[in-house]
Amino acid sequence: MIYDVIELTKKLISFPSVTPKDEGALVFLSEQLSALGFKCHLLEFGEDSEKVLNLFARLGTNAPHLCYAGHTDVVPTGPIEAWKFNPFDPQIEDGILYGRGASDMKGSVAAFIAAISEYLENNTSQGSISLLITGDEEGSAINGSVKVLEWMKENNHIPDVALIGEPTNPDYLGQEIKIGRRGSLTGILKVKGKQGHVAYQHLADNPMPRLINMLCALNEFCFDEGSEFFPPTNLEITTIDVGNTADNVIPESGKAHFNIRFNDLWSGKTLGRKIHDILKNTGHSYELDLIYGSESFLSKPGTWSDIVKTAVKDITNYTPEFTTNGGTSDARFISKYCPVVEFGGINKTIHQINENASIKDLEDLTKIFKRVIELIPEIKPS
Ligand SMILES: [Zn+2]
Repeated sequence: MIYDVIELTKKLISFPSVTPKDEGALVFLSEQLSALGFKCHLLEFGEDSEKVLNLFARLGTNAPHLCYAGHTDVVPTGPIEAWKFNPFDPQIEDGILYGRGASDMKGSVAAFIAAISEYLENNTSQGSISLLITGDEEGSAINGSVKVLEWMKENNHIPDVALIGEPTNPDYLGQEIKIGRRGSLTGILKVKGKQGHVAYQHLADNPMPRLINMLCALNEFCFDEGSEFFPPTNLEITTIDVGNTADNVIPESGKAHFNIRFNDLWSGKTLGRKIHDILKNTGHSYELDLIYGSESFLSKPGTWSDIVKTAVKDITNYTPEFTTNGGTSDARFISKYCPVVEFGGINKTIHQINENASIKDLEDLTKIFKRVIELIPEIKPS
């Protein structure tokens, strides 16, 4: 049985699975995979209203074991009337398929399953192939991949390598393979003073110059120049809030938020200490709350990333670059268990109104995934 990538993508888009809702998408997938011989496990995690459905499906029990990871939840549509077509009623126009999830990432999930079906038509599978499909990637990610991975460990399903099918290419298929991501740290800086009349400034204490001074010190600080596989660590001030509505009042206090995306030269903790050093050097007193998001991670280029690179090159004729840019993904959880790389479609329209993917790209992505599956025997079992 051969699945058509376009038909499968359209069917998946038709389930309005706005995170963390599933609306039947994963049951549908498990039926399709069961028909190909996969052993499917629908795994529900979380309490009551926060329950999230996930799917783990595996074909074969031998090594090497390749796991494809992805998600079927999507971000909200925004105003539906602004869309060319209903976001859950996928339509094709001029070779472009429109619908929520077309590129992030129902098209990719469909491409991988279509690739398996084509491969199995003429081959018996080597090693084993599995899919970890979560319904909680776009949301809090608490009851998704993290818990499925724990379940996989308990049940002896940890793969030798993983491929995340998230859309990694900015402009064209074959541009980038992601081998890691930066970490994230948020800071909330508060400065206190004494409220008063602007004309009686000697009776008040304006905290604003100190806040500005400290923000300048943070903003100007050069954390590093980047590392072998990562861009430089970068701090962005995201908001400054005083809440003062009167022009004749010196405010009591001020606060600012900033977010840092950091490379592998730092951990959240060492970076937190550095922030305190920078602030202390200004000589001002302050309060600082640090919210630790995620640590950076890296799957060093090696056999696995080279296999994916070869597959991409064989089909597209482009040599993809290994990068670590962009926001975070579930690769941060999987990287704790095995080498993981990310390669999928084009990310130009993800999360936007009129999200889309071209038919050609979906077909080529299917070919790339099929090539990866053909190369499974070259994976080194861990
Ligand atoms: Zn995604």
